[in-house]
This record gives sequence, C-alpha cells and structure tokens, in this order.
Amino acid sequence: MPTFVMTMQIGFDANQIHFITKKALKGDMKAAEIVIEFLSGLEIKEATAIAYLIVYQIAMNVLLDLGEECRKCGGMCCKMGSAIELMDFDISELIESGVDISKLVKSNNKHYIPRPCPFQNGWKCTIHRSKPYSCLSYPFAVEDIQKDIIASWSPPNPPKPFIPDFCLAGKRAWQHIESAIQDFKNEYGREPTPQELLQYLRNRGQV
Ligand code: SF4
Ligand code: SF4
Repeated sequence: MPTFVMTMQIGFDANQIHFITKKALKGDMKAAEIVIEFLSGLEIKEATAIAYLIVYQIAMNVLLDLGEECRKCGGMCCKMGSAIELMDFDISELIESGVDISKLVKSNNKHYIPRPCPFQNGWKCTIHRSKPYSCLSYPFAVEDIQKDIIASWSPPNPPKPFIPDFCLAGKRAWQHIESAIQDFKNEYGREPTPQELLQYLRNRGQV
C-alpha cells in the first residue's frame, strides 16, 4: 500500500518529502503547508491532484472524529489486502515507541505489516500514535486506490476520490469535504486551490 508521492519523479530527496508528508498526515500543519505548496508548485496536474487528496486525508485524520464509522466498519482496511510496506522512518518510530517489530514481515530488505494486521485489536489500532505512513494515508492518499483518479483528473474541480464501499469513515469525510468545496464556491465564485481548501476546512474546526 505505497503512498503515491513515492512513485512521483520529483527530482530531489523523495524520502524527505515522504517524511514531511507523514508529519502532515499526523496533523503538523506547518508540514502540511510545505508539502502542499511543494506539490502545487510543480505545476503538474497529477501533483495538484495528489495535493488535494492529501488535504482530504488530513481532514479525515485530524479534523473529523470518525471513530464511530470505523467501529461500525469493523476495521476492514487493517484486515484486507496485501502486506503494508513500511518506510525506514516508520521503523525508527515504531522502535522508539517500543512497538514489538518482530511482528513485521521482512522481505528483500524491506519491512511489511501483514494483513490481517497483528497490531489490530477488534476494530482498533493498538499502535495509533506510531501508525505507519501508509496507514495514515488510507483511503484518500493511497496510490493503489486513487491512481485512476489522479491519472484522469483535470482542473478546475477538485478531484472526486474513489472510496471503497466498506469505508464508512471515508464516505463521511468526503461528504464534509464536498460540502466545504461547495460552500467555498458559493462564497468566492471559483474552486479552492489545495492550500485554500485546507485553510477553509481548518477554519470550520473539528467536527
Ligand atoms: S478507515 Fe474506513 S475501512 Fe478503515 S476502519 Fe475506518 S471506516 Fe473502516
Ligand atoms: S498498524 Fe494500525 S492502522 Fe495500520 S494496519 Fe495495523 S491496525 Fe491498521
């Protein structure tokens, strides 16, 4: 489940961008501004689509309380699918947090979380504070899920993401985001940029 920034030809230290993106997905708004400005500044439509999708994911992770939806879903994203690839900075964070990394699978010098995930208890993640990058990216910022959306998107409307049918949290997050986009359009008579959408969503506060 690689995060899609991984596959972009960005021309400099990709690892650093991933690290900053992970901080953004955890709610570091300075990091969010840096990564969104960087992606938007590339002036490549795919990169702008990714910037929007990262904004959606930040809203889902930080600005919305979606525990009830995840409980109802039963934690499907941690149960189904192929093993989750980890970045080196994920491993460092897991070790620093005292997580038992013997539960990870190692192959070709890379570490993976198998699915069903051994860190899941019921529908809950038992390592929530040190969740890996790919887990923080689900579902809006996961390449495998959004690659067709990214490839086919063209401005000016912010991309409509693909949301797996079982992902009730993603559906509710998108309802909230779509309504914010519509409100922005009503107020300003145009589509929000990724930066503007993030700020607009932040101004609405946590819901
Ligand atoms: S993020 Fe979506 S798929 Fe994962 S547990 Fe929550 S509702 Fe279910
Ligand atoms: S580490 Fe947590 S969020 Fe990631 S797959 Fe496992 S239980 Fe789910």
